[in-house]
Amino acid sequence: MARFYSIRFRLTATFLTIILAVMLIISLFLYNILERYHMNNLLIHLERTGFLASEFLVGHLRGQIDTIRLSSLAENISRQADARVVFIDDKGLVVGDSVRVGGLLNQTLEHEDVQIALAGEVSSSTTYSTRIEHQVKQIAIPVKEDNNTIIGVIFLSTSLEGVNQTLADIRIFLFLATLLAMAVVGGGSVVLARRFTGPLEELTMAAKKMSEGNLDQHIVFSSEDEIGRLAEQFNIMARRLNYYTKNLKKFAADVAHEVRTPLTTMSLLTKSLKEHDMEPKQQKEFIEDLDNELDRLVALVNDLLELSKLEKNKVEYEKISMNTLLQDMIGENKYRFERAGLNLAGFIPDQSLKVFAVPRQLRQVVSNLLDNALNYTPPGGMVTISLYQDGSEVITKVEDTGSGIPKEDQSFIFERFFRVDRARSREGGGTGLGLAIVSEIIAKHNGRVWVESEEGRGSSFYFALTAVEE
Ligand code: ADP
Repeated sequence: MARFYSIRFRLTATFLTIILAVMLIISLFLYNILERYHMNNLLIHLERTGFLASEFLVGHLRGQIDTIRLSSLAENISRQADARVVFIDDKGLVVGDSVRVGGLLNQTLEHEDVQIALAGEVSSSTTYSTRIEHQVKQIAIPVKEDNNTIIGVIFLSTSLEGVNQTLADIRIFLFLATLLAMAVVGGGSVVLARRFTGPLEELTMAAKKMSEGNLDQHIVFSSEDEIGRLAEQFNIMARRLNYYTKNLKKFAADVAHEVRTPLTTMSLLTKSLKEHDMEPKQQKEFIEDLDNELDRLVALVNDLLELSKLEKNKVEYEKISMNTLLQDMIGENKYRFERAGLNLAGFIPDQSLKVFAVPRQLRQVVSNLLDNALNYTPPGGMVTISLYQDGSEVITKVEDTGSGIPKEDQSFIFERFFRVDRARSREGGGTGLGLAIVSEIIAKHNGRVWVESEEGRGSSFYFALTAVEE
């Protein structure tokens, strides 16, 4: 049953129906025209012969009529015109017939065409002749004297066998032409349908394999048409899906790994507290360690929540002043930095620089960059926030005089869970997600983020957003 619903079957059936209809219409027209052409030709030929003969006949029908002479005259004309020739006088009596044996000589011809001709009009008709057992075309032409008096009629009849044979040949030819056209169109449409449906079947197979969990699919296609473009889009989709799935699996494994480390430490600490008698001072130290591990877990969960929030698209963008946002954040963090022995300074211009952004997310970006500057800069260091416009972009720079990042690691630091120095990051309460969050927020704002850093001298983190006019 599925075969009848297939594009291949429907395309072929549609093409065949169309070509059959077209060929039928063409055949009908052509056959009609040819039939009329042949019949007319025959009639014109008979008419011409009749008119020529009537000029001869005028003299012969006057006065004494010689039926023997007229019959041999009829016979002569009959031979040349390939038709039976009958001469009739003004009373309807046959006075000459090209058929000698069994002819109509001396009989009255009661024929409608003859009656009409005797009344002065040329008349023709088609009938079946029992004598020759075939259809015949016949014509009756009045013979007139100079004063228009009708003195007789010439009656001509010829067999339609030749014409009918030609028309039968034409019918066979048209039938064969229709069959040939249907064979060509049918074959062509099967080839065409196969060209269309081949890649579609391949696509279906690949999609089926994907639905069964085998995401690593790629279709080889050569055409540039709609199906080629569909296959290309399919390949892109499959690649992306494959990438996301692999990433998701890696992310889940990374999260499990990140959670396992503090949990293992906490488990060890709890067991020690439970199983060993300890001095109150030592107990306190263990509980503080437990607290630190718990803080780390909470920070990790918070960052993970932050990342998942970014996946949601329902956020409100608004026009905000970067000057105000940065001034506020410097004010909020100044004391925290001072406590760590660091100097936090801002270079914010008087000119207001505005961007289109989600304020809460931009605050998160600056906060993460400041946290890192604080964590990786030793006491006595300096952290500065600068704001400036470069062309169509508003650029924020967070610079520190900290440890810096090795060149070979700089391209990885924006990846989830990447840390240059794992132990140090953990010590500072880092989750390895801070810069990944920064990078995703800036990407959602259609901006750019990058780092310039030299090991031992410090780092500068930049993010650029499109400037918005006042
Ligand atoms: P973390 O929570 O570990 O800080 P981030 O994603 O914020 O994770 O940063 C990734 C890594 O990049 C950090 O572990 C650290 O090695 C490095 N890094 C980030 N910021 C700085 C900085 N200001 N100075 C030096 N190293 C940095």
